[in-house]
Formats: sequence, C-alpha cells, structure tokens
Amino acid sequence: MGCMIGAPRSEQFNDVYFSAHDGPGETGHVFLDGNGLGDRWQGRGMAESRRFCIGETGFGTGLNFLLAWELFNRTAPEGAFLDFISVEKFPLAAADIEKGLSPWAGRLSPYLDKMLAQYPARIPGFHRMVFDRRVALTLIFDDANTALAEVEGQVDAWFLDGFTPSKNPDMWTDEVFTQMARLSHGGTTFATFTAAGFVKRGLQSAGFAVEKRRGFGPKRDMLAGRFAGDVKKTTARSVKKIAVHGAGLAGCAAAYTLRQYGFDPVLYDPNGIASCASGNSVGLINPRFTAFRSAESDFYAGAFAHAMRAFPALGAGYIPCGAVHLVTDEDKEKRFARTVENWGWQDGLMHLADADSASGIAGVKLSHAALVLPTAARINPSLLCRAYADGVEILSEKPDGDAVVLANGIAALDHPALAGLPLHTVRGQITEIETPHALTGQKANICYGGYAAAPLGGRQVIGSTFQKWLTDTILRPEDDADNIEKLRTVLPQVGEVKILSARAGLRVASKDRFPVVGAVDANTLISAAHGSHGILSSLLAAHILADSLRGGPSCVGKSTLKALSPRRFD
Ligand code: SAM
Repeated sequence: MGCMIGAPRSEQFNDVYFSAHDGPGETGHVFLDGNGLGDRWQGRGMAESRRFCIGETGFGTGLNFLLAWELFNRTAPEGAFLDFISVEKFPLAAADIEKGLSPWAGRLSPYLDKMLAQYPARIPGFHRMVFDRRVALTLIFDDANTALAEVEGQVDAWFLDGFTPSKNPDMWTDEVFTQMARLSHGGTTFATFTAAGFVKRGLQSAGFAVEKRRGFGPKRDMLAGRFAGDVKKTTARSVKKIAVHGAGLAGCAAAYTLRQYGFDPVLYDPNGIASCASGNSVGLINPRFTAFRSAESDFYAGAFAHAMRAFPALGAGYIPCGAVHLVTDEDKEKRFARTVENWGWQDGLMHLADADSASGIAGVKLSHAALVLPTAARINPSLLCRAYADGVEILSEKPDGDAVVLANGIAALDHPALAGLPLHTVRGQITEIETPHALTGQKANICYGGYAAAPLGGRQVIGSTFQKWLTDTILRPEDDADNIEKLRTVLPQVGEVKILSARAGLRVASKDRFPVVGAVDANTLISAAHGSHGILSSLLAAHILADSLRGGPSCVGKSTLKALSPRRFD
C-alpha cells in the first residue's frame, strides 16, 4: 500500500482504497445511505428482529466497517446485534490500516482501537472478532469468489467495494453475484460506488433489481438496489439462559464466549472446574498440521489465529515462546513442506529451518531440521479454565436453561441422540522434570511426536503418552520413562533426568480425530472430542456454538461446519 494524504492507494491495482476527496463521506453516501441503514436501524423491523448482517467485498482498511459500527451505535436499539462479514484477498497489516485511517483517527478511535487490538494474523480463512457484546466482525482472508461460497447465513445489506471493476474484474464476477443472491432474502439491499454496465447486468441476472443513483463527489453515478427473490428473513429463536455441562476447557470456553454474544451461561460440573485433562499446568498451542489446506486445516488455522488474539488478555501463564516441530522422518519432511506451501501462512508465522537455524530458535543444539512456528505458545490450561469461567456461576446440580451445551466429554454419550457417536478416551501422562543441564538455554517448545515445553523456573513438562486402551488415571512410572526416552531419542545430550511430578488425564477423541461441534437437536449442542489440540479447538468451537444459538452467520466455512458436525457419522 502506498499512501498520500487521506487516500491509501494499492500499487498492485493502481487504485485507491477510498475516495481521495473524502473517504468517510463516500462511505456515508454510497454504502450507509445507499442501503438506507440509519432509517432501517431506527425502524420497526430492527426493533423486532434485533439483528442485522452486512456483507462486504473488499475489507481494505475497514473504514466501511468502522463507520457502519458508529452508525449502528447511534441508531440501533438497545440489545440489537450487528454482524459484519467481509472478504479480503490481500489483507493489510494493522500498521498500514492505522496509517491509512490516521486523518480520521479522532473520530474513528473508539472503534478503530478495538478493531486493531483484535485484528487477526494474516492467515487465510475465517476470523471472528466480537466487540462490546453488540458487534461481530467475520473477516475472511480469501478470494471473494471462493470465500462467499463458504459463508453460511443471511445478509441484509451488501457493500460492493472491490477496486474499480475495469482494474479488478475478478472481484465483480457472476460467481460473486450468485453467492450474494444465495445469501440474500426479500428485504436485502446492496450498494456500490460503481455504475459499470457489466456489474449492473451481472447483478440483474443474479436476481437483483438495480437502479442508478447519484454518485459521490466527482462520480456521476453509482448503483444500488434490492434482491428481487421471494425469500423470507429467518427469525432467531429467543434463547438467553444456557446450561453448559462440563467445566473443562470446552465448557469454560463456551461459557466465556457465550457471554460475549450477550447470552447468560451457567456451568454445571459435579467434579468442579478443570478436574480432568484440562487440569494440566502446561499445554502447548499448536495447530494440527496437514499437507493440504482443507476444511480441517482451516479450523485449526482459524483457531490458532483466534488463540493468538484472545489468550494474551486472559493471562493464564500464556507465553508466546514459539515452537519447533522436528522433521524426524521422511514422511514429516514431505508433509511439513506441503503444509508450508499449501496453508499460505506468512514467513513470520510458519517456516522451515535447517538444523542449525532451528537450534538457534530453540536455544538447544538440534540435529533435525524443523517446521518453525514463531508465534506458537504455551499456556496453563487449568488457569485458562479459571480465567474463562471468571464471573460465571459453577453449579454441582443440573440447572435448567433455554438450551444445553454438552461439553462434558464422554458423558455426552448419555444423551439419547448421541448414544451411537464414535467417541473414545485417550489416556495421556505428562512428566514434570527438572530442566536438564543441556536444556537450560531452551527458549521454544520442542515437538517431535512427544514434546518438551519451554522450561520455566528450572522445571519443564515433557509429554505425552497416548493410550487408547487405558481408561484410568493411575500414574505409571513406565510412562514417565517413555516420555524421557522419547526426549532422549531426539536430544541425546539430555542425559540423566530428575522427575518432579506426573499427571495423567483422559481426553476424548472421535473416530476421525476431528472434534464434534454443533447442534444435536433444537435445544442441545455439543462441543467434544477436542483430543490433544483442545486448548485451540475449544475456543473456536465455542464461537460456532454461539452462532448456532443466535442464528448468526458462521465464524468458520460451511465445509468446516460440516466436518465438525455431530451428524457426520450418520
Ligand atoms: N472497503 C475498504 C475500506 O473500507 O477501506 C476499501 C476496499 S478497496 C477499494 C478493495 C479491496 O478489495 C482491497 O482491499 C483489495 O485487496 C480487495 N480485493 C481485491 N481483489 C479481491 C478479491 N478477488 N477477493 C477479495 N478481495 C479482493
């Protein structure tokens, strides 16, 4: 992005992000007034439905989003909720957004500061941010043509804001217009700064009634209109009180997240908070790697980006120490190379390193190359549960609620509709050791099938066993020996190890090793089978549950929702 006063410019498209003449004025005229938003938000429809969804092509600096939020705050009734979905193929860095919007910093700062504080790492896929229990931003870092096809939900107003159609025809395709129509209802409107003939015709043939209106500033014309199809706006059920069964990571993350959307959750767990595997004192934050980008990898990628924004504020012993994943065999070598190629993360978020540079990053002499995640982290899952549950009532007797979230692990199978769900437990024992002399310089987590968490205060956790066939949590000395042996295989310099403590827990996993998240029936939802990536997956899962309860647009793609669904085994 290049910048002249008041008008950031894209060198790639040779076009401005918004009017050089008056950015906010253009947003107001074209997008906010073009969709009649102030009037609609003050009107009867809004007072009844209490929710509104804007869809945008081209997030850019977020100026349109910020001004829509400002107007919503001024005009929409108390208790109303705004969803804003925006697709962006070439996301700007937060610093460029700040610079580009600096001429209006005073006016925008109540919104801009909050947005920038949560602006996601530029990882392809869906990213959800929630502000003030009133506004949710779903940013999709992908091409509009593929991204919109993944959106599930209903849009009330469209902002078409790609660069000028002649300079960027890829953003104004029949595929985009067809997806807009799929996501629209009878009351949906759209507005765009352009009056290009092919845009007008494309929108018309997708089912929109289009009219020319006066453009902004020097622009003579713009287009606006409405969806002409006979589709009803869906109504959300009115649920408020949610009984969350299970006070481990999945349940506590659900309670924490549901409050952000204005729900009133209570936690129920006869064993108290973080009593099972979630009670460990150290957990590593890593996505599960796959060779290709897929519905599954998108879930972990989005969950990783989400955790990076959410965890620092929660404390809970969060340390972004980074992680090196050792390339211990040929299969991993191929898989990691493909992960880097296909996931499309920037270098600063994921890269390959030879043994020498991986050693520098880890602070330990390594004899393997590695996949490096500089922003990966460690956290204390037990403290995380407590931070999530802060301010939420925890009951030992089953409460009533308008809806129930089953986040109680294997006990979810007690629900009649879930009896056949292919879930099983996996026992894991971790060993806390005195940091061996050879690892005193270790800075990052080292993963090799097993793992050695970065040390803290002369001690560190190594793990973990993975036993499907054991269902008890009795500590086994041979498991400690196994953890130490795995560590020595990749780091032979470790030598003698002093064991300080051990802990065993049972996690739940599903047949396909992917979590089970979504609606079971009208009043029951599930978040389970988070396996060994539960720290990450439970938080994004919680947003999926919130979307399901509020009837809002989805915070992950349709394919990911399907891959997580409890019905996928039917
Ligand atoms: N609404 C923005 C704002 O408030 O700052 C300005 C949007 S700017 C005119 C157009 C945006 O579309 C750019 O950020 C650009 O990177 C994005 N874009 C261009 N082609 C795209 C595509 N095929 N899919 C998704 N986004 C695209």
